[in-house]
Amino acid sequence: MKTALITGATGQDGCYLTKLLLDKGYRVVGLIDPTRGSNLSGLKYVGALNRIELQNCDLLSFTDVQRIILQSEPDEIYHLASQSSVAESFKSPAITMHVNTRPVINLLESIRTIAKETRLYHASSSEMYGQVKQLPISETTLFRPISPYAVSKVAAHQTVSCYRESYDLFAVSGILFNHESILRRENFFTRKLIREAMEVAAGKKETIQFGNLEVKRDFGYAPNYVEAMWRMLQQDRPYDFLICSGKSVALVELVEHVFKRLNIDVDRIKIDPGLFRPSDIPDIYGTNEMAKRKLNWSYDLTAIDVMDLLLDETMKSKKVD
Ligand code: NAP
Repeated sequence: MKTALITGATGQDGCYLTKLLLDKGYRVVGLIDPTRGSNLSGLKYVGALNRIELQNCDLLSFTDVQRIILQSEPDEIYHLASQSSVAESFKSPAITMHVNTRPVINLLESIRTIAKETRLYHASSSEMYGQVKQLPISETTLFRPISPYAVSKVAAHQTVSCYRESYDLFAVSGILFNHESILRRENFFTRKLIREAMEVAAGKKETIQFGNLEVKRDFGYAPNYVEAMWRMLQQDRPYDFLICSGKSVALVELVEHVFKRLNIDVDRIKIDPGLFRPSDIPDIYGTNEMAKRKLNWSYDLTAIDVMDLLLDETMKSKKVD
């Protein structure tokens, strides 16, 4: 039986990845920071709460990270924990940089010194491409980050590459584009859209305030994307991969689609310039050709399909806290 260690196991991807690995017969150890009061409802929602081993660990402490690796002896580590919001990173740049980089060094140093055979997956992000010069983004596109979040992810990403090259570790980064699910945190666009649109449809709210709806993003479905993470760690050699749907869609198109399905008039949309980010990527999408070819990963949902899945599941689910 293989053992996987997952940081950020309580987040969207952590929950779906935990379920995937448990279903594959892994022993899964999920790390929780006891000071955070993490919400376990996502793990419960996917049916993994009673099967995952939860352990306390302060990822910012090297000795704590070493301790947990020595104790749990993982074959694979999936480092998903991070301050994951671009908007929040403009408000808390220093925390974002610290939380998104220091644990990566602690994990890599621990693997280098005490667990050289352990494989590491790091959660990089399409936000690293920032000022996009050419589309689609591919594995060879240069990073031009334009948010504190993106800068922190570039630093972490390059640290992983540095350790892979310098110490011959099996350490890879998956560069994932936006991916959504019912477990997406409430402050992210798709969750906010569906929750507030349902409130408008139920007569509990008059209008919905949005930031810039003209930007275009490449949206995918989280349960399919975590499968690609696992596949990256099963390769013969360590490579970084882009994981994306291959197409972008304007946020306004998703809003109009959800409003149409819920019979809401578009005049309920209010644009609030106060919600615009200091800088934003106007349009971004990638190519998933290498992931499909080398990882044998398949994906064919559109962003509209994903919104339909989320809307249907939200309407069906009794309660997700
Ligand atoms: P998420 O739902 O926001 O989950 C983040 C996880 O990190 C949670 O388990 C959270 O724990 C944990 N965390 C946050 N700050 C922490 C800290 N200071 N110490 C320890 N743990 C902390 O994110 P996600 O959507 O699953 O994304 C997973 C990873 O992929 C993240 O690294 C994210 O940046 C990256 N990524 C996501 C996307 C996307 O579209 N979802 C795209 C590209 C890259 P609590 O439960 O205690 O809050």
